Amino acid sequence: GEVDFKEEAKFARHMKEKGEAVSEFAKSKSISQQRQYLPIYSVREELLKVVRENQVIVVVGETGSGKTTQLTQYLHEDGYTNSSIIGCTQPRRVAAMSVAKRVSEEMETELGDKVGYAIRFEDVTSPNTIIKYMTDGVLLRETLKDSDLDKYRVIIMDEAHERSLSTDVLFGILKKVVARRRDFKLIVTSATLNAKKFSDFFGGVPTFHIPGRTFHVNILYSKTPCEDYVEAAVKQAMTIHITSAPGDILIFMTGQDEIEAACYALAERMEQLITSTSKAVPKLLILPIYSQLPADLQAKIFQKAEDGARKCIVATNIAETSLTVDGIYYVIDTGYGKMKVYNSRMGMDALQMFPVSRAAADQRAGRAGRTGPGTCYRLFTESAYQNELLPNPVPEIQRTNLGNVVLLLKSLKIENLLDFDFMDPPPQENILNSMYQLWVLGALNNVGSLTEIGWKMVEFPLDPPLAKMLLMGEQLECINEVLTIVSMLSVPSVFFRPKDRAEESDAAREKFFVPESDHLTLLNVYQQWKANQYRGDWCNDHFLHLKGLRKAREVRSQLLDILKSLKIPLTSCGMEWDVVRKAICSAYFHNAARLKGVGEYVNCRNGMPCHLHPSSALYGLGYTPDYVVYHELVLTTKEYMQCVTAVEPHWLAELGPMFFSVKESDTSMLEHKKKQKEEKTAMEEEMENLRKEQAEADKL
Ligand code: ADP
Ligand code: MG
Repeated sequence: GEVDFKEEAKFARHMKEKGEAVSEFAKSKSISQQRQYLPIYSVREELLKVVRENQVIVVVGETGSGKTTQLTQYLHEDGYTNSSIIGCTQPRRVAAMSVAKRVSEEMETELGDKVGYAIRFEDVTSPNTIIKYMTDGVLLRETLKDSDLDKYRVIIMDEAHERSLSTDVLFGILKKVVARRRDFKLIVTSATLNAKKFSDFFGGVPTFHIPGRTFHVNILYSKTPCEDYVEAAVKQAMTIHITSAPGDILIFMTGQDEIEAACYALAERMEQLITSTSKAVPKLLILPIYSQLPADLQAKIFQKAEDGARKCIVATNIAETSLTVDGIYYVIDTGYGKMKVYNSRMGMDALQMFPVSRAAADQRAGRAGRTGPGTCYRLFTESAYQNELLPNPVPEIQRTNLGNVVLLLKSLKIENLLDFDFMDPPPQENILNSMYQLWVLGALNNVGSLTEIGWKMVEFPLDPPLAKMLLMGEQLECINEVLTIVSMLSVPSVFFRPKDRAEESDAAREKFFVPESDHLTLLNVYQQWKANQYRGDWCNDHFLHLKGLRKAREVRSQLLDILKSLKIPLTSCGMEWDVVRKAICSAYFHNAARLKGVGEYVNCRNGMPCHLHPSSALYGLGYTPDYVVYHELVLTTKEYMQCVTAVEPHWLAELGPMFFSVKESDTSMLEHKKKQKEEKTAMEEEMENLRKEQAEADKL
C-alpha cells in the first residue's frame, strides 16, 4: 500500500512550526500548570455544580481532556472524600495502574496511599485511600460482598463507550444502587458523542460536555489493500522518521506478537541505517505497549525522549482512548484490533482479529491531533473505510461467553437473567449457552440455580473452568498442586524466549517437560523454583521470567486466602500427579480432543480440528495420547491447543457422563453430537419452563 506524500509535505511544514512551540511549552510546565492547561479545567466550577445538583450525570469529552485524571481530584477537592471514598472504574488494567500513578504524582502522595488502584490479584490501596482506580471487573466483584457499595460516595464509570462486559453488567447493578442510596452519586464518562444512550438508560439524566481542543488531522489512505501490515507500518514509520518534521509516532497493531515483531524490525532498520550512512541519523525511541507488558516498561511511554530524539510508540487499542500520550503528531493505523468473540463453531471465546469500526478508526486518528495538527496514515483503503467497516464496535456482552456473568448474577439472586436490566441485552442464545456450560461444570442444577459447587466457584476471581479445577482438587485431595497450576495459568507465560537465543531457551524449557502434560510442566517449573528458594538468578539461568513467577506466587497466596476463608484444607498428593491430571480433566470437558493423526486432534464435541503446538511438552516426544484436554485454542496459522494434558478416556466418561459414554471409541461422533444436542435441548426446555413459571408467578 502506497501513501500519498504530497499532502504530507505541506502538513509537515505547518506542523514543524506548531510542534516545536508546543513541546517547548510542555517541557517547561510544572505539574500544576499542566493540570490547569487541560480542557476540563476551564469548566471545573460548572461541572462541580452539575454534580452537586444531580445524582447521575454523563460527562462527554475528547480523549485527553482530563476526565480520568482530574474528575476524581475535583470531587476530592469539593469535599466528597471527607468521610467516604471515590471509585473510578476502567475497562483496562493498564489504564487503572497508569492513571492511579499519575494522579498520585499530581497529588504528591505515594501510590497506594491516598490514591491507589486495584486490579485482579493486585490491590495497591490502603486504609488511607480516598481515590481508588480499579478495573470494572474488580468493582463488579465488590458488589458481591456489598451490594449497595456503601464504601463509595461516588463512582465514576470511566470509558463507558468501551462497553466492556463488566461495565455493561455494572450499569444494571448501579442503576439499582442509585435508586436505593440517595447519598450516592454516579458519573458516567464517555469519549464519544453517543452519550444519549447512557443518559436515557438512567432516565434522561443531564449530559455535560467538556469543550474540546483538538487540531485538524490529515488522513491519508492506502491506495491498495495492504498485504503485510506489520511490514507496511514499519516502513511508514521509518519514512516519517527520516523525512518528516519532529513529532512522535503512534502505531496501532493488534497484539503482543505483532508489536514485538514491529519493534524488532524498527530497531533493525535503524541499525542498518546508522551503519550504512555517514550522516548523523536522528535517534528513534521505540516503545511497545500492551496489557501484558510489565508495568515499569509500560510507564516508559510517558517519558520525554532526549533532545532531538523521536518517540515511536507501538500499541494495541489500549492507546485508542484509555491512555493519552502527548506529543503524537503521526498515527499509523493498521485498521485491525483483537476482540474476544464467542465462536459458535468452536463453542468458546477466542481472541480474534477484526477490522476496527469506523468510530475506532476515527478515535485512533484523533490521537495525532492533540498537541497540534497531525497526520494519520491508514493502512487500508478509503473504500474499505466507507463500505466495509462497521460504524460502531459490537458491545462485548453481545459477543462473548457469559459464564462468569451468569454465575455472578445468579449469586446476586437475579434468578431470571433474561429480565436483567441490560442496556443492550445479550442474545438469548448466549445466555443459554453459558448456562449450559455452567451446568456441565456442575455449577448450576437442572432448574438453573447455583449448586453447592457453584456457590463456591463464585468466590474465586477465576473463569468457571479454573474455579472448577480448584474445587475438584479439593475433592481429589491434591488442591496444593492444582492451586499452583491455576496460579500459573493466571499469569503471562513464564518461559523467556529471546529471538537471538531461541534454541538455547527451548532446550532450557524442555528440561522442565512432564511428557504427558503442559499443566504439570507448569507445576514442575514452580516447584523447582520453590526448591531453589524462589531465586532470581536461578530463573535467569533457566530462561524463566522472574516477574511472572513472582506474580504467580502472589496469585497463589491470594487464592489460598480464599480457600482458607471457605475452610477448604490444603491437601497434597505429593508426587502422585495422575490424580492432578484428573482434576484438570474435570475442568475442560468442553475442550476435550481425540487423536486423529500425527499431532492432530479433533474436539470431541464439535469435531473442530485442533493441533498440538510445537512448544507443547507433548509435541514430538514420540508420545501421542489418544485423548487430551486443553486450556484454550489459539488461532494463528492453525487452530493450536494451548496448554495440553493427556487424559484417560474413562475419566471423561466418569466426570462428564452427559458428554461421553464409557467406551468412547465405540460411539460415533454423530451419536455424541446427537446426545449432546438432546441434553442441551432438555436443559433449554427446563430453563424456558422455569422462565414461564416465573413470569406467571410475577403476574400473580
Ligand atoms: P481523558 O480521561 O479525558 O482522556 P486523561 O485524564 O487521561 O484524559 O489525561 C489528561 C492528561 O494527563 C493527558 O494530557 C495525558 O497525557 C496526561 N497523563 C495521563 N496519564 C499520564 C501519565 N501516567 N504520565 C504522564 N502524563 C499522563
Ligand atoms: Mg480517560
